[in-house]
Amino acid sequence: MSALLEVSGISKSFDGFKAINNLSFSINAVELRAVIGPNGAGKTTFMDIVTGKTTPDDGEVRFGENGRSLLKMNEAQIARAGIGRKFQRPTVFEDQTVADNLTMALKADRNPFAVLGWRPSRKSQARVLALADEVGLSAQLTRRAGELSHGQKQWLEIGMLLASAPRLLLVDEPAAGMTLAEREQTTTLLCKLAETRAVVVVEHDMDFVRRLNCKVTVLHQGSVLAEGSLDHVTRNPNVIDVYLGR
Ligand code: ADP
Repeated sequence: MSALLEVSGISKSFDGFKAINNLSFSINAVELRAVIGPNGAGKTTFMDIVTGKTTPDDGEVRFGENGRSLLKMNEAQIARAGIGRKFQRPTVFEDQTVADNLTMALKADRNPFAVLGWRPSRKSQARVLALADEVGLSAQLTRRAGELSHGQKQWLEIGMLLASAPRLLLVDEPAAGMTLAEREQTTTLLCKLAETRAVVVVEHDMDFVRRLNCKVTVLHQGSVLAEGSLDHVTRNPNVIDVYLGR
């Protein structure tokens, strides 16, 4: 399986403190991966670097079949290249319906400069229905996003990200604040999305990581401490020391 994302020897210091320290790892084109690690391990900085929000001091980040360097691109170019990022807090348009939120996301993907006066074609309307279906919100299309549950808002935002057909989705603590039923549905959604693209879930919640049942990368002090199944990494004495044995 070829790598979609290749992170090679990246480092990033803030005021002399190494938040990322010679970090290398790769993500396959079709894969669900959990990235875990204690607070301050470098998880957010890693996502910031991959999405172009932060530039590393050293190393390389390559994406896609041709191994294009992401370090030469700005945030918008990286998003257009096929990387979507879901922040922890949902940022949907609360006053708009679910359908309108998805329509706006499609519109923004087609032409970010022509948000006003855009009338969705039949094809776009069909795409909105497909997006709603993909994230389990078909029955909520005419509801205002502000009336949705926390979990439904998270799924809506994932649907909005899917409007630009990302090949890699970075998802920050997707299950935080969700009910048990919502967590189960989120697990199913993420596993399904990862059947056709790469999905990287940054997560603190070990119970949720267990549900994902995927390869896990443990970060510590800005480097990979362990990698493998959750059972494998949680048996690693180093992981027990720094992360689980708090
Ligand atoms: P995590 O997401 O795993 O909790 P972070 O990537 O947020 O870890 O942070 C890694 C380390 O880098 C932390 O010690 C944090 O305080 C530091 N750090 C992150 N961003 C900045 C910044 N902009 N300025 C100074 N220090 C930062």
